[in-house]
Amino acid sequence: MAESWTVLKILKWTSGYLAERGIDNGRLDAELLLADLLQLDRVGLYLNFDRPLNAAELTDFRQRVGRRARREPLQYILGRAEFWSLPFRVGPAVLVPRPDTEVLVEEALARATPAARILDVGTGSGAIAVALAHELPAARVAAVDISKEALLLAAENARVNGVAERVTFTPGNLHALADGEFDLVVANPPYIAATDLAGLMPEVRDFEPQLALDGGSDGLDAYRALARQASKLLVPGGWLLVEVGAGQAPAVQELLAAAGFGELFCRADYAGIPRVVGGRHI
Ligand code: GLN
Repeated sequence: MAESWTVLKILKWTSGYLAERGIDNGRLDAELLLADLLQLDRVGLYLNFDRPLNAAELTDFRQRVGRRARREPLQYILGRAEFWSLPFRVGPAVLVPRPDTEVLVEEALARATPAARILDVGTGSGAIAVALAHELPAARVAAVDISKEALLLAAENARVNGVAERVTFTPGNLHALADGEFDLVVANPPYIAATDLAGLMPEVRDFEPQLALDGGSDGLDAYRALARQASKLLVPGGWLLVEVGAGQAPAVQELLAAAGFGELFCRADYAGIPRVVGGRHI
């Protein structure tokens, strides 16, 4: 009889296989994929090292590992990601929420009044909108995105996290909200310069939506539009806060200053990279 594949044996094999394919955290990804398949947590997996996998489990696992080996993001294979310690459904229509973006949420919370009216432009999975609504129980959030598929996911994420009654989702761009009155406008817009797209990690370049990444020739197109439109949407004294790519903070601050924003600030992420730029509509 062929020797059976146990949890431990297949984890070891998969870690090596994913490492060969250039994946940094092969062991962790293998554990997360297998734990999800067997409906265990990682501790559960460790308590079941000797458990053999049956034929159906093996087939299913091999298929998932194949997807990861082709550099599909782990979160798309699992169909979920965590952001701000909240659960989010994700898929190829939306960018996988990044920990860097939590810094934007922190800066927004530092400036929001309890009953703030907030606009999230290009909401994607709804990560920012849902996290803010979750932290501010009296706030109302409007979320817009040009991707209808993204909005469906974002709406589901609002439901799952119990904030659906205070978050509205509108297809389109900023013009869809020309009459808005907001205290805070937040965005993690597409900001990769078109010429840099080809050099991104395969997970990002080959799987994440171009719509959420491509910021035009210098990566700053979305900031130009935001700076122009946000001053019309914000109440006097309201804040515009945006995530920026590495090296973009000075240029984005200049754009905000040119559009009449004051009290400009910049905040670094936990890797020390200037990541959030903001200014006040005065
Ligand atoms: N943070 C993403 C990346 O570097 C880009 C997200 C964006 O363009 N808003 O892969």
